[in-house]
Amino acid sequence: MNETIRKLMSMPQDRAPEPAEQQTAARELETQAGRAVYPKSVTPAGGKAFFLTHGPDKQLGVATLDADALQVELRPMDHENAAMLRAELPFLAPSLVGLPTSLGLGDRLGLATPGHIRAVRGTGVVPVLAQQSIREIERTGRTADEVMDAATWGVLQEGYRDGFGSDADHLKTPADVDLTAAAGFTMFTIDPGDHVNDAADRMDAEALEDGLDAVPWDQLETTRTDTEAAYADRAFDLGGFELECSGEAVARAAVKYGAAVAHAAAMSRHIASTMGERAFELEMSVDETETPTTPVEHFYVASELKRLGVEVVSVAPRFVGRFEKGVDYIGDLDELESTFRQHVAIARELGPYKLSIHSGSDKFSVYRIAAKVADGLVHVKTAGTSYLEAVRAIAVVDPGLFREILAFAFDRWDVDRATYHVSAEPAKAKRPEELTDDELPGALDQFDTRQILHVTFGSVLTDRADGGYRFRDRFYQVLRDHEEEHYDALERHLGKHADPFAVK
Ligand SMILES: [Zn+2]
Repeated sequence: MNETIRKLMSMPQDRAPEPAEQQTAARELETQAGRAVYPKSVTPAGGKAFFLTHGPDKQLGVATLDADALQVELRPMDHENAAMLRAELPFLAPSLVGLPTSLGLGDRLGLATPGHIRAVRGTGVVPVLAQQSIREIERTGRTADEVMDAATWGVLQEGYRDGFGSDADHLKTPADVDLTAAAGFTMFTIDPGDHVNDAADRMDAEALEDGLDAVPWDQLETTRTDTEAAYADRAFDLGGFELECSGEAVARAAVKYGAAVAHAAAMSRHIASTMGERAFELEMSVDETETPTTPVEHFYVASELKRLGVEVVSVAPRFVGRFEKGVDYIGDLDELESTFRQHVAIARELGPYKLSIHSGSDKFSVYRIAAKVADGLVHVKTAGTSYLEAVRAIAVVDPGLFREILAFAFDRWDVDRATYHVSAEPAKAKRPEELTDDELPGALDQFDTRQILHVTFGSVLTDRADGGYRFRDRFYQVLRDHEEEHYDALERHLGKHADPFAVK
């Protein structure tokens, strides 16, 4: 009987085992289980040990000591076992993140968590591993439970004990809340974008008057008069700069965002009652609107939320310039920096809360600014970029499959681009037949090709042909067969997102 395992199993649950102990224990468990074991996954838990086995079908191992004999049981990695693990080992469940800098790492495939953990490990940036919008859940044909479980399994595989967040992203209705609260999400991103009146920016005086009449003052528990008295023709000292709120700017802010604030407040009350005793945090996002959120508008929204008792951990304004999917920032960086400074000052004064950068992947020039001026009060959300890294891994290990996916993506582009902010021109992207095998992974670095592949992920993963999936099964199989290549690609690319914010 191996002494290391005996020692490990009797360890207090809150102590992390040493890597050398895990290695030794893994070898012994491999002999018993008859399958390879991920050493970092070996985790003592109150007289037992849990671990994950490699293989075409991974399994959860549960080791126990019966008298002096080591017993190993293999169980499926299903929802029931994931829920059991979260209950036994709190570090396998998401927790509140609070104000430390965080990186949202959406994983549409459910295979990326180990790579995501490797990307942030040692940076001090908190990973938000279970993050999915309702829209992406629908597009990928997954469930909220599956998103949460994939994070749990990945955290166990890597033996990551530093904690992670979860984000039920872009929630629009109470039903969205119910679905994600039941799956154990701890952060809720309220998206009242459908209630934002983008036309307010361009209204003439008369239209603005009509707009003010239409603001749902009752739901806001205030009046137009009180709102004007609170903000109009006043200047606010925001620790270093004065925010001047003209009467007109306040009127436009109320017309543009009043109904959105009312909706967000109603959603937050629904979340609070649904969660009951369970702790949660809130983000409010208005990033998917047509026009940028000015500092005055941000100030109005955040002040009104505060007045209504809605406490947020982060706010996602719509920043100036273009945050297109999967590519760097397009716009005037000086203007971004000067407005970003003002948004930070507002977030510090009225929270503090973090500024949340949505469509945040690949915005390397924005990270430099945010790291410089935001003093860590930043949350960056990424999702599709991890899918692209999976596609890059496929380009390396299965060029034939990649060529098929790229050709299909060209065909789907016109339809699939409709709901995204993208500006790729297919004519500028190379078609599969124009690329040698060696050039395939690099095609992922070309702006137009990146966006074409980015917006077509849902079609690639769900399109059916000949009575089965066109790509889905092969896509998953290749990544399972070559998981280290997949994790490497993720670690390299997402690491570049975490490093600018590393806590020194
Ligand atoms: Zn967003």
